[in-house]
Amino acid sequence: MKLLEYQGKELFSEYDIAIPKSYVAKNLSELSQIADKLKFPIVLKSQLTVGGRGKAGAILKCTKKEELEPVFIELMKKEVKGERPNAILIEEAVEINKELYLSLFLNRGRRTYSLISSSEGGVDIESVQNKVIQDISITGLTQAIAESIAKNLKLDGFAAKSFSNIVIKLAKLVREKEAELAEINPLVILSDGTCLALDAKIIIDDNSIFRHPELRKYIQISELQEQAEKSGFSFVELDGNIAIIGNGAGLVMSTLDIVHDAGGTPGAFLDFGGRATTETIYKALQVISKLSKVKAILVNLFGGIVRTDLVAQAILDAYKDGMISVPIYARISGAESDKSKQMLSNSNAKLYDTVEEAISALVQYIGSMK
Ligand code: GDP
Ligand code: MN
Repeated sequence: MKLLEYQGKELFSEYDIAIPKSYVAKNLSELSQIADKLKFPIVLKSQLTVGGRGKAGAILKCTKKEELEPVFIELMKKEVKGERPNAILIEEAVEINKELYLSLFLNRGRRTYSLISSSEGGVDIESVQNKVIQDISITGLTQAIAESIAKNLKLDGFAAKSFSNIVIKLAKLVREKEAELAEINPLVILSDGTCLALDAKIIIDDNSIFRHPELRKYIQISELQEQAEKSGFSFVELDGNIAIIGNGAGLVMSTLDIVHDAGGTPGAFLDFGGRATTETIYKALQVISKLSKVKAILVNLFGGIVRTDLVAQAILDAYKDGMISVPIYARISGAESDKSKQMLSNSNAKLYDTVEEAISALVQYIGSMK
């Protein structure tokens, strides 16, 4: 579970890791409630799970009150890597003296937590040469180690103390909240040596959430996900352009593999579980129809008791209602398949006897679009 920056910063505050003075607004009325409390200049930060907001123009500075509302509206509308915010974090701008990098992550390969520190903060850590990666004992991070990291980053005096304090507290947070990652990039040093977490990226281990009821409020389900879950579907959005619908997680997963092997890229996984009725299939297509990246749909239904004509009816309805326009490649094993073929003969959907044939035709179609 990825926390948004403001949620991560809530945890930071709980652990006494300093952050800039900040507020969260989800709409204009919330914004107006905080407007009078703000000390300008301020920084408005779009709350997205994707990184690189700075470069994408999703972090904007605001020097006077009159700019607040238009800048807020601009950010709420701005899409970054396909994601739009539900909230904006508003922070009093700080005078940055130095930007550092600090993160702790679960290093599965080495079966331990590792810590990365660097004196080059504020940029992608992948592109930084000058960084130290060290393993951290699960029993905790000692004051001596924290101090040696500060020294390594050439910090001294109050800055060194302030920094090593943050290292210790971050390690405590990671251990207690069972985080897979806690990253502060940048961790900034102000001119008086105070260290502040200017950004927060925290990923909590999904398998541990049952032990942390206090973190449940941070679970964000996208609207689409919510709609799918309400209908009893298992739905996962993926990166590609082929949506795969089927009955049974195993069947959908193996279909995903075959599509992949055939050179296609799956864009959605939808297992509608239960019974294939006109209604469930229509609803499944409705969920898929919201994904503009999907260029073709693969339907793989298996089972002797599936009334394929009911599925065909749902497909016809979805086209007739204008809900979907992309072609459907379907393999539907079950009763009434001749009737179904007949029903779909004039539509944008094609039925195949085997899933391999359906996939091969689909991948060829996607290839022809390029
Ligand atoms: P990211 O691009 O999504 O990682 O967003 P960050 O929260 O890391 O912000 C990106 C950059 O914006 C930081 O590295 C800072 O240089 C700058 N920035 C963010 N907040 C402030 C602020 O309060 N004052 C100043 N001067 N710069 C800021
Ligand atoms: Mn950052």
